Parts: sequence; C-alpha cells; structure tokens
Amino acid sequence: MKPSLLGNRDLIRAMNRSIVLNVIKTNGPIARAEVARQTGLSPATVTGITAELIGENLVFEKDMGDSSGGRRPILLAINPSGGYVIGIKLTETHAIGALTDLEATVIHKRTDNLHGRDPEVIVKQLSLLVSELLKMAGLPKKKLLGVGVGLAGIVDSEQGMLRQSPFFGWRDLPLGEMLQAQVRVPVYVDNDVNTLTLAEMWFGGGQGIDSFLIVTVGRGVGLGIVVNGQFYRGARGGAGELGHTVIDPEGPTCECGKHGCLEAFVGDPGLVRMATEAANRGEIHGPITSMSDLLTQAEAGDSGARAVFAHAGDILGQGIANLLNIFNPQKIIISGEGTRAGDLLFGPMRESIARNVMPGLARDTSIQIDAWGDDAWALGAASLVLHELFESPLNR
Ligand SMILES: [Zn+2]
Repeated sequence: MKPSLLGNRDLIRAMNRSIVLNVIKTNGPIARAEVARQTGLSPATVTGITAELIGENLVFEKDMGDSSGGRRPILLAINPSGGYVIGIKLTETHAIGALTDLEATVIHKRTDNLHGRDPEVIVKQLSLLVSELLKMAGLPKKKLLGVGVGLAGIVDSEQGMLRQSPFFGWRDLPLGEMLQAQVRVPVYVDNDVNTLTLAEMWFGGGQGIDSFLIVTVGRGVGLGIVVNGQFYRGARGGAGELGHTVIDPEGPTCECGKHGCLEAFVGDPGLVRMATEAANRGEIHGPITSMSDLLTQAEAGDSGARAVFAHAGDILGQGIANLLNIFNPQKIIISGEGTRAGDLLFGPMRESIARNVMPGLARDTSIQIDAWGDDAWALGAASLVLHELFESPLNR
C-alpha cells in the first residue's frame, strides 16, 4: 500500500533519496564525491541527503584508512542493522515469516499453521507472526520498516489488493489495508513470483543485469520478467502466467479450468497425477501419492519415474525456448521447490531448449538454477519492502 500520493517537490526529494541510497547499496563503501558523480546530483544535495540517511541510521560513515599517508577518505555504506523488515509467504496451509536486515540477511524465521481460510482470522495470525518475530529478535517495533506479503494469485500491488487467490478462493480482498491496520507499519502485498523476482533483482543473480527472467517450478509454474532494468507487471499486474500458456488443447484439465496448460504437465500435482496413472499401469514401482514418492523412485533409478520428469522437462524446455524467442534475455533463473528434482528435470529441459529455440538465440542467454532454500519465498516477500526503500518512486 502506498502511504499517500506525493507532491512534486516531495516526489523529487524521495526520488533523489532512493537514488542516493541505491548507489550506496550497489557501490558502497563509496565517497560522497563519487555518489555525486554517479547520480549527477550536486555535492550539496548529496551532503544533505546523506546527512538525513546517517541521521536515520540507514547509512554510516566508514573510515577506510589510506595507506599512502594522505587524508583518509570517509566512505559511506549501508548500515545493515539500521532497520529491519519482515517478509511473509502465505501458502495454502502455512505462513512462513522471515525477519531480515537491510542487506536481506535472514535473522529469524518462523512458520505457523493457518487456522482455516477466514481472511480475518488469517490476518490476525499474520499480525501475531510479526510480533513473535520481533520478540525473537529482541527488536522494538520502531526498528521495523515494513512488512511484505507474497502469495499466489493476481495481486494489485499498488492497492495491496488481492484480486484473485486460487488457493483461498478470495476475491478483491484488501489484504494490505487489513494487515496494516493491525501491525501499524507499511504493508506491501504482491504475487509471490514477483517477490522472488525482486529478491533476485536486488540481492541475487539478477543484480546488475538489465534483462532477465525468473521461472519458478513447484506447486505451480510462474514467471517474473525484468526488461531494461524494470520489473514488468503487465496492464493490471497479471503478466507472467507462463504456467497457463496452453501446450496441448487436448491435454489434462488445469486448475484454471482450461485444458493442457504447461502447469498441468510440469507443476507438482500434474506430475503426481501422471505418475499415479503410470504406477497403476505398472510402469512405476508404486504406489505414488506424493512428489517425494515420485522423487524417491526416480532417484532409485526407476525408469518409469524418470520418464515422468523427462516428459515434464521436455515441456518446460518448450516453454522456455518460447520465452528466449520472445525476450532474448541475458539470463534465465530457475527457482522454486521443484528444483529439487535436479538433473532429472533439467537435463531433458536443456535438451528441449536447444531443440526448440530459434537457431542462434540460445547462446545469448545463461541459465542459472537456484539451489532451493525453504526461506527463499519469505526472503522474497521481505525484498518487497527493501525494494520500496531502494527503488526510485518513479520506477515503482
Ligand atoms: Zn491453466
């Protein structure tokens, strides 16, 4: 949620502040004169803004020492403990919270089971999760800069409005406003894949890269898009539904109601369904009732189980080859809990990309597969708040 619309002068001031903060974050420790050179702001403006940032403890002066015996340069750096943020990932059954410092280092984590699907009850639980994390860290409320929430579905992040949630069945729920009324710090809400994209952009493999895509695999298949250094959301926040691009109109029914979406072949429920059918036909050592059953069989060398992953990898590779043709990105980052399948999925995926991409385009893009950590989604949600801090209001 945006606190308020800014007037022109306030907007310029807020922009300059974010630009300075961003340069210090990206290139610090850095001298004031260098900040002025890189931002194009006057030395007086830089001095004024940095004095404010130092006063707020967000930035500190680092005495670097100069071995040449000359005057010691005073350099500016982000003060990691100048403020804290909390990120929460909402799944169908759990709220996973992480408290991080300004460098996105996770200080404390906590996971709570959700009590049902009533929005009022869940918002109370989230508010409790926030206070518990502060208590664990021994931090006063005033050190908390904001709370970010990431969840599946279509989110109007400007309004903190959840337009549609496939898992909870919520529609047009003002989740940001509801939680902000409880926790009394700024609350930002976004689609969970978008939050992961921001985390990669500011703190991960997307730092300093102008055009990259992040593809998430797991429960669903998502896509985050960064073009020309800007995060792309589409007309009303709905961009990136890679999982619901149709691969085969005669294919299995998808959760969205259509047939043969990519996600129906590559997402966890689709894989388990295909594996269960194969086990019933005697093609896999059964029974298979979950992803971990399937993974165990495949890792033990069961050829039927490996074929299920190979088929999914092949289809994922087709989807990614299409993305390479459309975006010609510098990098594709693959993330999400589905990366646990490793080469079972990504070997066939790489072969499929090579087979399906327009000749000559593949070499422009590097592919990075993230090692998955359970706190990655919560860290992504925390980045939502850090993004507000470091990103110029004009680019938000
Ligand atoms: Zn679908």
